[in-house]
Amino acid sequence: MCATCGCGDDGATITLADHHHPHPHDHPHEHPHTETISLEQRVLAKNDVLAEQNRQWLADRGILTFNITSSPGAGKTTLLERTIRHLSAQRRVSVIEGDQETLLDADRITAAGARAVQINTGAGCHLDAEMIERALHTLEPDSGSLLFIENVGNLVCPALFDLGENSKIVVISVTEGTDKPLKYPHMFAAAGLVIINKIDLLPYVDFDLDLSARHAHSVNPGVEILPVSATTGDGMDVWFQWIDTRANGLSLRCD
Ligand code: MG
Ligand code: ZN
Repeated sequence: MCATCGCGDDGATITLADHHHPHPHDHPHEHPHTETISLEQRVLAKNDVLAEQNRQWLADRGILTFNITSSPGAGKTTLLERTIRHLSAQRRVSVIEGDQETLLDADRITAAGARAVQINTGAGCHLDAEMIERALHTLEPDSGSLLFIENVGNLVCPALFDLGENSKIVVISVTEGTDKPLKYPHMFAAAGLVIINKIDLLPYVDFDLDLSARHAHSVNPGVEILPVSATTGDGMDVWFQWIDTRANGLSLRCD
């Protein structure tokens, strides 16, 4: 559980999307009693150990992994659908989908042509490294493939939980406030890339692209910012190049 938000992972279920059979994995949890070390520190320390194991497991297989976070409704799944349709001709892509309930997003991902597992967190509002470890064993992503983790829509605790990814990517949309990077600085500080989605809606909303980029740079000076529309495809080529650069750095297989 996350001591900050009080959510728990005890009810998390992991489902391979093309099978549609929920597999509630029993995993006994210790429930540590209150001691001098804060529960949050202990939870995060345990998470960091598992995340490092995930990172090693993924690195051993040459799998490039991105942890995608956003508020609900910023367009993560739409971004992934378009990305999969574009990339899956050249690279094998799989997705770990996180949502509190439903297999809806995993179904969209498999329809787009990628393999997917859905993690349903129940009351939980973030993914943790243990859930990813379990999901990896269900998904069994190919060596040399590209793996996207779509986190639960939430800009708060996903910032704290390393999953073993190569990079965190934050997606915001122009239907949100320009000041989002200032309100959720931990998430933006942890990001290796900020995607500003739904730029096709800029004429209709009160969103200042330049100011939002300045806000993001105020909490994360070096971070790259990519304005895109996952719906129209505008700006998506730059995103695909960003992925390619990192995949080629890892020399992922192109079949
Ligand atoms: Mg989604
Ligand atoms: Zn949480």
